[in-house]
Amino acid sequence: MPGSLSVATPNTAGVAIGAIILLGVPGAGKGTQARRIADRYRIPAISTGDMFREAIQADSALGRQVRQYLYSGELVPDDLVTAMVAARLERPDCRAGFILDGFPRTLPQTDWLYRYLDRAGRQPLPGPIVISLSVGYNELYRRLSGRRYCPVCHRNYNLFTQPPRQPGRCDLDGAELLQRKDDQPDVVRERLAAYERQTLPLLEAFRQRGKVFEVPGGEDVDHVSAGIFAILDGRRQGA
Ligand SMILES: [Zn+2]
Repeated sequence: MPGSLSVATPNTAGVAIGAIILLGVPGAGKGTQARRIADRYRIPAISTGDMFREAIQADSALGRQVRQYLYSGELVPDDLVTAMVAARLERPDCRAGFILDGFPRTLPQTDWLYRYLDRAGRQPLPGPIVISLSVGYNELYRRLSGRRYCPVCHRNYNLFTQPPRQPGRCDLDGAELLQRKDDQPDVVRERLAAYERQTLPLLEAFRQRGKVFEVPGGEDVDHVSAGIFAILDGRRQGA
């Protein structure tokens, strides 16, 4: 444990941290960091991917619409996504702040978010803070293409960072490890390229509005968390 980096949980009572927008390529560890920020500042982590999955599982009218788009390989339209996010942000647990993971993903969604946060009637919160987890292409490629999973117990492995004891076999049940189609080299290359195409214009739009912090996401998760917490703690003290 890197003891020098562990930071005490701050007293969050009555301190509004506002909106935290988390950006990062697939494999940058966004989900893990979102959970850690949520625990530390006691604000919800809102993932549009999770919201889509939940709506589909609940088989709501919304879920059926979302499923139609996702299954046909289309993007869920902006107005549908923003309606879902708006409904979530109205809930009382978002009053002091929230983390957005996977949203906004397009320029119209970005414009909508800033308008929504500026809107009269909401309790004033500090303006959104954007944290971009950056990981070098080669490292990402290695992480993603090294992923394997066990079809029996669903445990995940990584040939580079978390290899099984016996090559190609699950430690727990000996089943032959498989690679998800999403993690195959050609698909990984395409996913990373698609991410860049989508995200570069967003980063530019965020920069024009103010605060974007780049945090190197290539180190171990505790280092990455410490870097994010330092930014967020500094902002709260300055608020
Ligand atoms: Zn297994």
